[in-house]
Amino acid sequence: DPGPTEDYFEIRFAGLCHSDIHTARGEWGPVHYPLVPGHEIAGIVTKVGSDVTKFKVGDRVGVGCFVDSCGECEYCLAGYQQYCLGSVVWTYDGVGRDGLPTDGGYSRGITVEQDYVLHIPDEIPLENAAPLLCAGITTYSPLAHWNIGPGSQVAVIGLGGLGHVGVQLAVAMGAEVSVISQTRSKESDGLKFGAAHYYAMNEEDTLKKLRGSFDFILNTVSAPLDFNALLGTLKPQGTLCNVGLPPDSIPIKVNRLITGRKSLSGSNIGGIPETQEMLDFCAKHGVMAQVEIISGEEITEAYNRVVKSDVRYRFVIDTATFDPEE
Ligand code: NAP
Ligand code: ZN
Repeated sequence: DPGPTEDYFEIRFAGLCHSDIHTARGEWGPVHYPLVPGHEIAGIVTKVGSDVTKFKVGDRVGVGCFVDSCGECEYCLAGYQQYCLGSVVWTYDGVGRDGLPTDGGYSRGITVEQDYVLHIPDEIPLENAAPLLCAGITTYSPLAHWNIGPGSQVAVIGLGGLGHVGVQLAVAMGAEVSVISQTRSKESDGLKFGAAHYYAMNEEDTLKKLRGSFDFILNTVSAPLDFNALLGTLKPQGTLCNVGLPPDSIPIKVNRLITGRKSLSGSNIGGIPETQEMLDFCAKHGVMAQVEIISGEEITEAYNRVVKSDVRYRFVIDTATFDPEE
């Protein structure tokens, strides 16, 4: 049951993010098992607390990577709750205000403080909206922060869950977008998502030939890449922004930054106001995730396929396939 300012909603779809895999498999460090992953959550409100003002029963809603934060620090007050100096409460493998572990979206329902719940616009089917709650905001936030727009030459590296949404968003913002993938196997899809150019890293000297090409690179790859080679493909004063989060360290030659005043940066999801802005932007521009719907029984197989880059382009779990008795 929801507390006074909480919504309870029935989860209809939960996206399967590569971060779920890194976490569930302990790749980022110790995990509190049993773990219920899932931070791309979409559903319908079925109960609201007595003091809830922002939502009503029947609303189409979503929750992303966090469900609470201190609400008082400079970053929370500015709407950047993901960078809270106090304590962000992650949607799963976190500890809530009640001291209990948080459980994520691979479930039939969830109770969340209304301030951390998003409205999903009617234009986006819930299954295509679920992945926007992480993959969408993770790519939207850096593109918006670095003012990507008409005239920007943008490269998106990795055409997976994050990458395929990132390409569509950068195109909708007006940029000329290049996909850099491991192989040519996703070329027709990359162009369909709006990219103007497509490059494959398994072809000879791909990155060398792209020297000095991009204003902004969004690296979504879940494995370590040669950052020195990637920095070479930036124009002077360009930025390489990393959102992919492999557990490994990556060596950098500092002169690759200095010669050309290049920036190497990272970005973590986005705050609540920006996540709502992203959902509204997606509705306006017809941006959504291309999904493969799976049952609860297929999660392990889906994890293995994601790790092999064999997903077109996000697995989404239909939570109606979970057995409520289990
Ligand atoms: P994904 O669907 O697996 O996509 C990653 C893509 O990277 C793959 O489709 C593949 O694209 C490419 N790739 C995979 N292994 C590679 C390798 N060894 N060398 C070169 N390219 C490789 O994963 P995702 O869900 O989009 O997540 C991507 C990463 O972002 C993960 O590390 C995840 O934890 C992280 N993440 C970060 C944030 C954040 O806020 N910063 C949020 C969500 C996720 P191609 O087939 O096109 O080569
Ligand atoms: Zn995620």
